[in-house]
Amino acid sequence: MIYLDNAATTRVYDEACDTASKYMKSMYGNAGSLHSMGLEAERALNTSRKIVSSIIGGEEKGIVFTSGATEANNLVFSSLSSLKNKKKIIISEIEHASVYAPAKHMESLGYELVILRVNREGLIDIDELLSIVDDNTALISIMLVNNEISTIQNISEIARRLKSVSYQGYFHTDATQALCKIELDVRDLGVDFLSASAHKFHGPKGVGFLYARDIKRVSPMLLGGSQEGLKRAGTENIPLIAAMAKALIISKDNMKKFKERIEGYYNRIYDYAVASDDICPVVINTSSLSRHIISIAYKNLKSEVLLHAFESYGILVSSGSACSSKSKKISRVLRAINIDQEYQEGVIRVSFSRYTTDEDVEAFIDASEQLLKDVKKIK
Ligand code: PMP
Repeated sequence: MIYLDNAATTRVYDEACDTASKYMKSMYGNAGSLHSMGLEAERALNTSRKIVSSIIGGEEKGIVFTSGATEANNLVFSSLSSLKNKKKIIISEIEHASVYAPAKHMESLGYELVILRVNREGLIDIDELLSIVDDNTALISIMLVNNEISTIQNISEIARRLKSVSYQGYFHTDATQALCKIELDVRDLGVDFLSASAHKFHGPKGVGFLYARDIKRVSPMLLGGSQEGLKRAGTENIPLIAAMAKALIISKDNMKKFKERIEGYYNRIYDYAVASDDICPVVINTSSLSRHIISIAYKNLKSEVLLHAFESYGILVSSGSACSSKSKKISRVLRAINIDQEYQEGVIRVSFSRYTTDEDVEAFIDASEQLLKDVKKIK
């Protein structure tokens, strides 16, 4: 099988598996224990925190390890309790469900929720955002790279503009699809909070982190233990945390080399799609995007049918995003960018990783060509 669904999840590096295995099979101590195996676990936890913080440019004390980005995003919303007098939340229309749903939940609890529209390329209008921000604003949450259409928002520019109006609330970015795909440094981004997840960069599922510029602002969701500086109770998952740190080092070290290759894959499929004939697939989004995802819309075709047709050629892609692909509805993100109706239902997402090869991409193009020929025949 050819796996081209890396925005959904990635294959775990062998080295990360080995690391997890080591902390499961031989050094399986609890980081809270006082004996040597406990101390070993604590050392692994501290080292992982050092690695994660140095790679994102933050301080060690700002990292809270979580079960993934969903939890990290929810933790940001739980932290709003530390801003008692501010009751407005601003998000974009294309946020991941793990931001969108908590924002809606806060609205049901009495917060004012403003959902910013995006343009055809998925970009928010920073002037519009600035016109909405006021003294009552507690949180602005804008994702760095979108998981369906890969739009990159200009987070550092947003932060700079917010600073210029002396914004006092929190600024969060969900960087789950950005870490190890584009250059990322929390000092340049200028955010208060950033979330990420290991399984998007060849680490294991079920582990991620929240970075907080000021850890005092984090209000825990989970109580009942002193782990993670009282910000997330529960025995630390050392095997997964250490494996995430391992994957992060490898992904970061190879990022430049990998980026060039991925851009080549993106361009190859893009050029093919643009040059295709009358049932022409259209590439969604053309600028300011991370090239590890290419979103292609097929006129008057259904994504689900396309997905299974590609699978019959041994190629795994996704319809829209993995998180919404089981739902029959048009994705919120695709609706937000307002693509033509005849293309809306025929979107597939192809996404690359460092395990993707030239042959995989050529196989996708061959399959796409064959598929379009078949469709043409039927029509
Ligand atoms: N945010 C974005 C942008 C994502 O792509 C995902 C994963 N699909 C998440 C959050 C949730 O991450 P996790 O699977 O670690 O909960």
